[in-house]
Amino acid sequence: MQAEKPSQDSGEPPSAGALTALKHFSSAGRGYWHNVPDADWNDWRWQLKHRITTVEQLQKFFPTLTPEELAGAQLANHKLALGITPYFFNLIDPADEHCPIRRQVIPRIEETETASWEMSDPCGEDSHSPVPGLVHRYPDRVLFLVTDRCASYCRYCTRSRLVSNASGYDFHPEFDKQIAYIAAHPEIRDVLLSGGDPLLLSDEKLENLLSRLRAISHVEFLRLGTRIPVFLPQRITPELCAMLKQFHPLFISIHSNHPRELTTEVRDALGRLADAGIPLGNQTVLLKHVNDDADVMKAHLQKLLMCRVRPYYIYQCDLIAGSAHLRASVRKGIEIMEKLRGHTTGYAVPTYVIDAPGGGGKVPVSPEYVLSHNADRVVIRNFEGKIFEYPEAADGRPCGRPPERIEESQLV
Ligand code: SF4
Repeated sequence: MQAEKPSQDSGEPPSAGALTALKHFSSAGRGYWHNVPDADWNDWRWQLKHRITTVEQLQKFFPTLTPEELAGAQLANHKLALGITPYFFNLIDPADEHCPIRRQVIPRIEETETASWEMSDPCGEDSHSPVPGLVHRYPDRVLFLVTDRCASYCRYCTRSRLVSNASGYDFHPEFDKQIAYIAAHPEIRDVLLSGGDPLLLSDEKLENLLSRLRAISHVEFLRLGTRIPVFLPQRITPELCAMLKQFHPLFISIHSNHPRELTTEVRDALGRLADAGIPLGNQTVLLKHVNDDADVMKAHLQKLLMCRVRPYYIYQCDLIAGSAHLRASVRKGIEIMEKLRGHTTGYAVPTYVIDAPGGGGKVPVSPEYVLSHNADRVVIRNFEGKIFEYPEAADGRPCGRPPERIEESQLV
């Protein structure tokens, strides 16, 4: 896909033409695999079998590999495996060292640099795991880890201790024990299947698992967390969609970070899921030199809506070991949120959250809109910086912020 791209590294804001190009849907193309028959290329199992997983393949397909990337790739299989589907590989611009797709999946030597505040399990999942593969962190819902495999591996993955098994975690989910725990805990009304990627299971295995969960009367709601529609849209077959629609209410959260990931193939795959009645949300990780630009982020969020996906979260990148080169600042995240709220469709504005280190859960972070609040009034500002006063109701309680002096002349 050779569209004009914004130069986020130059410090220059993307041009209007570049932003328009980012919202254009085009195919990932065939690239190196132009001789592969359609039947193979469109077969998700073929894509998985032909993933780029070795340094030798990377050098063969990618002559512009930099020394930092080569060194990173040579060490990757001791930390988080190298793995990229041919389909997704075609989105990388080999001429651009700072290509936002490239930064997400090609290892770099900086992954070996670990700061003292970085962790292997930044969300404290292992300490909230009553049985292997199940995380019970919040009162009414659980995270059900299905597999440690993904179609491609994201270099900033929060679960890189576990996924790909390069670090020797030796993940062995025990579905019987996981399901028995849920059945024995009537407070669990919501089960999120994740991993690794649950859509890597065969249709039959996934159907069996979803059927067993649906048979538990207190489970009201099922969710899948998956990056497959983005890494491997060929997996979203009509048969898969027909199977999934038996288990409503079933929601799917996808994970997309940049508008160039939203190709015609991805849009069509998401359309098949939406046509099956599955509500779709998106989780984005805020990443340095990938999407830490308000215009690029806005183009991405608007493009998601065109794919029938509601932007759900922007995550501050977790403190995963070796991720400093990919972490954008919280200041940048707040600045982006400031440029979204009020400036575009409300449906396109997700919640920006920090997953509190060590297992504190998601904490929303946003620009400050309440300027003062006391028993009589709330003083707020809007997206244009105009200030308004709202009279507090008789039973109102101040939210704790000390009142600031607001000049009458400032009020609209
Ligand atoms: S798809 Fe998800 S679980 Fe897999 S490597 Fe990427 S972030 Fe991690």
